Amino acid sequence: MEIIKLEGITKVYRTSEVETTALENVNLTVRKGEFLSIMGPSGCGKSTLLNLMGLLDVPDKGNILINDTRTTEMKDGEMAEFRNEMLGFVFQSFHLINSLNVLDNVELPLLYRNSTAKSRREAAVKVLEKVGLSHRMRHFPTQLSGGQCQRVALARAIVGNPQIILADEPTGNLDSKMGAEIMELLFQLNEEGTTIVMVTHDEHIAESTQRIVRFFDGRRVE
Ligand code: ADP
Ligand code: ADP
Repeated sequence: MEIIKLEGITKVYRTSEVETTALENVNLTVRKGEFLSIMGPSGCGKSTLLNLMGLLDVPDKGNILINDTRTTEMKDGEMAEFRNEMLGFVFQSFHLINSLNVLDNVELPLLYRNSTAKSRREAAVKVLEKVGLSHRMRHFPTQLSGGQCQRVALARAIVGNPQIILADEPTGNLDSKMGAEIMELLFQLNEEGTTIVMVTHDEHIAESTQRIVRFFDGRRVE
């Protein structure tokens, strides 16, 4: 069963001087439960693709379907709700909020839902246990190592039980040991049924996933 379907996606960025076609007529289907790697040289449109899949941006042409829902026809509010419930994001540079401690960072996605403070706290504690950081809940991001920060970011991505995780170079800022820990956690989540789409430059890491899709210059080449 397909969970994400991109049909004929074209994305053009326009500034006052230049037009950049970041993606041109891209078709891609992600099956439910799949662990997919996206590879390709810098500037080929990988982040753009992930942003579109994550409903953070809209295409100029084409359709994006998530669970057979045509997202291009959704209203903004619907889209935000959909994004919050279906998707978890992990970025290369963690994107944690330095003024909030680990627990508060992880609880953030739940603030937009009708949840009690107690249930948010319980959910955050549970995912922090899962990523091995229960002893760091009251720490602030600046007091943690890169690998620990990424584990917090992963906990935040999964606290709302998303069906899909979109990860943009999740190991890009980590040494190989910390990177391997993050991959272990991603594999575990995938085994539990979460669909994962990951952008990576690391051929070795990509080969450990189920499928690699390669891009060149805004087009899918393999
Ligand atoms: P990748 O993630 O593969 O490095 P990107 O998706 O970030 O590639 O970028 C694809 C192309 O679109 C690049 O040529 C990049 O310069 C351009 N681009 C990306 N974001 C913007 C933007 N916000 N405005 C203008 N051009 C952009
Ligand atoms: P510290 O002990 O200094 O707080 P960590 O929180 O990184 O440091 O824990 C020490 C080690 O425990 C880490 O290097 C990591 O390999 C490992 N670890 C424990 N639980 C997990 C987990 N669930 N996922 C990944 N790594 C874990």
